[in-house]
Amino acid sequence: MKIDEEIFHTSHPQHKLKLQYTETPFICDGCKEAGIGLNYKCEQCEFDLHKACAVSAPVIIHPFYRKCDFRFYERPPGTAMRICDACRNDILGFVFHCNRCGFDLHPCCANLPQVLDDGEHNFYLCLKLSSSCHRCGGKGPGWSYRSECRNYNLHVSCVKELLMESWQAMYLNVDNNKMRELQTRIPSLKGHHKGKARKVRKCCQIAAGAVRVIVSAILGDPTAIIGAAVGALISN
Ligand SMILES: [Zn+2]
Ligand SMILES: [Zn+2]
Ligand SMILES: [Zn+2]
Ligand SMILES: [Zn+2]
Ligand SMILES: [Zn+2]
Repeated sequence: MKIDEEIFHTSHPQHKLKLQYTETPFICDGCKEAGIGLNYKCEQCEFDLHKACAVSAPVIIHPFYRKCDFRFYERPPGTAMRICDACRNDILGFVFHCNRCGFDLHPCCANLPQVLDDGEHNFYLCLKLSSSCHRCGGKGPGWSYRSECRNYNLHVSCVKELLMESWQAMYLNVDNNKMRELQTRIPSLKGHHKGKARKVRKCCQIAAGAVRVIVSAILGDPTAIIGAAVGALISN
């Protein structure tokens, strides 16, 4: 698909939006979720859109819900609070909604790749967790990524939560102790295989790279390079 360098978007009709690339996280003015990498920006205003939010199709289908017609809305339809079925965050802006079933997806969540590849191994998007999430320890609702070895599972929601915590910490300039505390809460990639020492090392190296890929995909651009600040938190 061709990518336009400049677009007009109905949510910001007064100015052109320019395609740009950032390694600094931003909040998308469309879906109100965090983003990184490619985005469309108004250079006069503080206005950014995820690429997925800026160029969304009016109707999409998703492999997890083959019978659904997801229609694009700039505002969540109806008066009830809506939750994204992928990441479990509130829907506060742009959304794909199926009228018949009531499913909701953020544009970036709807765009999450079914397979992520860190160069060597694959991580698969799953509708339901079959084993516990590496961060929350649960098998709660929401989508997740599962490693090829099936030993590493992460909720999309858990990755988002993790990022928000680390960014809040950075923006608030919290002291080093707090940062260290946050780092220890980042899903540890060590020791998720028990008693298979040699395999552990190989698989954990794979996982560290893959988590970066997962994070950038969740932020709307699987090809984005995670900036040093976020990267440092993830690699621990
Ligand atoms: Zn967005
Ligand atoms: Zn503007
Ligand atoms: Zn449906
Ligand atoms: Zn979502
Ligand atoms: Zn989890």
